[in-house]
Amino acid sequence: MGGGGGVAAATTVVESREWYLAAIAPENLPTSDHLKLRTVTVSLDYESIPDEQMALQLLLISVDPYLRSRITGRNDDLYLAQLPINKVITGYGIGRVVRSKNNNFSEGDIVVHPFFPIAEYCITPSDFVRKIDPTADISLPDYLSCLGVPGFTAWVGIKVIGNPDPGSNVFISAAAGGVGMFAGQLAKLKGCRVVGSTGSDEKVQVLKDEFGYDEAFNYHKETDFDAILTKYFPDGIDLYLDNVGGKMLEAVLNHVNKGARIPISGMISQYNTNPAEREGLKNLLNIVGKEVKMEGFLCGSFLNRFGEFSQQMEKYMKEGKIKPKHKIDQGIESFFENFVSLFSSSNVGKVIIQVAS
Ligand code: NAP
Repeated sequence: MGGGGGVAAATTVVESREWYLAAIAPENLPTSDHLKLRTVTVSLDYESIPDEQMALQLLLISVDPYLRSRITGRNDDLYLAQLPINKVITGYGIGRVVRSKNNNFSEGDIVVHPFFPIAEYCITPSDFVRKIDPTADISLPDYLSCLGVPGFTAWVGIKVIGNPDPGSNVFISAAAGGVGMFAGQLAKLKGCRVVGSTGSDEKVQVLKDEFGYDEAFNYHKETDFDAILTKYFPDGIDLYLDNVGGKMLEAVLNHVNKGARIPISGMISQYNTNPAEREGLKNLLNIVGKEVKMEGFLCGSFLNRFGEFSQQMEKYMKEGKIKPKHKIDQGIESFFENFVSLFSSSNVGKVIIQVAS
């Protein structure tokens, strides 16, 4: 038996609210019929925790678009398994160890868990759980943005797959979201000219004023994508980090330079659409003559480079070269409304929920 933490003297049973999958949502925006909140009881008694496991209290949870693909009931575009009906859903979160039967974790440790049950309290094995260094002088939300999945995805897309030369013309969609804000800043650090698309005038300003984008446009207003890309890319596009797919990707293919690279991180414009009705690309042939390299990728396949990434990003952050922006909402009950808001243009930066402090 492990013995990493303190032993509860008295019986401790807590009420814990948790989000669970009530019904699959094959298409359209999920509703409150699909994701529901319920209250369960969790025993934090030392004796009731299985060996090697621990009890965690959720502090912060990241709200991410990929959850959409885990509740469709399909296995086509999945990269993580379908979530089971009636079971608690999971996300990338930060929590506090409240009891531990694992020698590597002690009561009071603050940990990151990539599959944190979205529940106020949980009992969990320690697989994938990582301790946060309390002396690192990094705020907890930064571990979910700059040093978490969005930052890592941006780093893989720009530094590893895109790898643009200084002076390259770079385009980034969903540029004010979690991935986009870091992708643009990383491309600027590589000496590129960077243009972003986003869904409001306020966010266009944020891209230019706070994230250092050279130009940005509101794709809800500039609906002729060919015309706007002609305006902002008179010399063509060398690198496009695609976060949205659909019509924007099709328009980009009319503006690519010879040897352009298109790392595809995601296609959020298509996530709520039945696969049979998703938008296709009429001009895919352009990638042949222009010898364009399009590459879909998952940040999880680059975990062997996570250490290198965190060192670099932490340094950039501490030098003020990379600036994170968060939208932090309060209370586990706000999870559903924040999740569906990802499919609108209402957020700036990384969406996070503070569940406890
Ligand atoms: P995020 O912070 O939640 O931002 C999502 C943004 O997408 C929204 O704020 C919205 O901004 C935009 N959007 C929503 N619906 C749209 C639509 N119909 N058309 C165009 N834009 C739309 O998300 P994120 O974490 O940055 O993720 C961005 C992309 O990266 C997603 O496709 C996600 O699935 C993908 N991703 C991939 C990996 C990987 O490993 N491959 C990891 C993380 C994320 P505006 O409308 O204002 O632009």
